[in-house]
Amino acid sequence: MNDNFKKTISFVIPVYNEAENLGLLHKELCSTLFDLPYVYEFIFVDDGSADDSLAIIKRLTEKDSNIFYIELSRNFGHQHALKAGMDIAQGDCVISMDCDLQHPPQVVRQLIAKWEEGFDIVYTRRKEDKKLPRIKRKTSSLFYALLNKISDMKLENGTADFRLVNRHVLKAFSHLNENELFIRGLIKWAGFRQFAIDYYPRERYAGESKYDFRKMLSFAFRGITSFSVKPLKLIAYLGILLFLISMVLVPYALISYFIGKAVSGWTSLMISIIFFGSLQLLMIGIIGLYLGKLVIQAKQRPLYFIRDTNYSSNAASNLERPNHEESTSLF
Ligand code: UDP
Ligand code: MG
Repeated sequence: MNDNFKKTISFVIPVYNEAENLGLLHKELCSTLFDLPYVYEFIFVDDGSADDSLAIIKRLTEKDSNIFYIELSRNFGHQHALKAGMDIAQGDCVISMDCDLQHPPQVVRQLIAKWEEGFDIVYTRRKEDKKLPRIKRKTSSLFYALLNKISDMKLENGTADFRLVNRHVLKAFSHLNENELFIRGLIKWAGFRQFAIDYYPRERYAGESKYDFRKMLSFAFRGITSFSVKPLKLIAYLGILLFLISMVLVPYALISYFIGKAVSGWTSLMISIIFFGSLQLLMIGIIGLYLGKLVIQAKQRPLYFIRDTNYSSNAASNLERPNHEESTSLF
C-alpha cells in the first residue's frame, strides 16, 4: 500500500452521540501505537449522531490528515455502521472498536502482534467485569447461553465487536449483503485462522450506553434468528408431540362419552383452550418473525447510505506517519 512504510492499519469506529469520547480515544490510540512501524488511518463512521460528534470529527480531520469521517444518512445501527467502515477501509487490516473507550486501546497492540503472526482474525472476549451492572452481566451471559443452545454456532461468552480482520476477511465480507447484520456471529461462521484475546473492559468514559434492554433483546433475537432455523424445527417437533398426545386424549374422551362418564369439565376445557390458543399464537409469531426477515431481505435494499465522506479510495496511499507529539497536543 504505502511504499515507505510496511503496512496500513485502518481503525473503524462507529459513532453515535459520542462527542466527549472522540478526542480521548484518538489521543490514547496514538500514544499507545506511536512506536510501532505502521501507518494508521482512523475512520469514524457517524451513525446519524444528533450531537456535535460529526462537527468534532471534522475539526479533527483538519488537524490530522489520518482521520476520516463517513457520515451515514441516518442512524442505521451499530452493526451497519461497522459494515460501512469495513466496506470502505483500504488498510491491510481493519481494527473495529467502540468509541467509548470500553475497548481498551492498549489491547490493540496484542491484536496487531497476533496479526503479524499470521492470524486472519484476532477477536476479543470480554472478561467478566465486576463494575458492570449486575443486570447487564446476567443478560449478557444469558444471551450467549441461549444463542449457543438454539443456534448452530458456538459463540464464546463476551465476544465483542472489538477485533482485527485482515484483507482476506474484508474481501469475503464485502460479498455479504445480509440485512440483519450480526457481525460477531458472521465472523465465527466465516472461519479463517482465528485467535482470541481476553480483555478487561474499561468503564464508558462519557455519555451513556445506546443499548437499552429493548435493543439488547432485539439484538439477541437477531443473533438467534439469523443463524438458525431451529426455532422453526422446534415448532414442528412440538406439533408432533401434541399430535401424539391428542391421539391418546381423543379416544379417551370418546370412550368416556360412550360409557356415560363424560363429566363436562369446564376447568379442563378452559385450560386446554388457553394453552393451545397461546401455543399456536407463539408458533405463528415465530414463523412470522422469519417471514418478516424474508420480506425485508427480498427487497435487497442497501445496508446503509453514505451522505458525505472525506475518504477516497487512494486515502491509504497518502497517509502520513502519525506524529505522537502532534496528535497528543491536539486535545
Ligand atoms: N453505536 C452506533 N450506532 C448505534 C448505537 C451505537 O454507531 O445506533 C456505537 C456507539 O457510538 C459505540 C458503539 O456503537 O461506539 C457501542 O455502543 P454502546 O457503547 O452504546 O454499547 P454498549 O457498550 O453499552 O453495549
Ligand atoms: Mg460501550
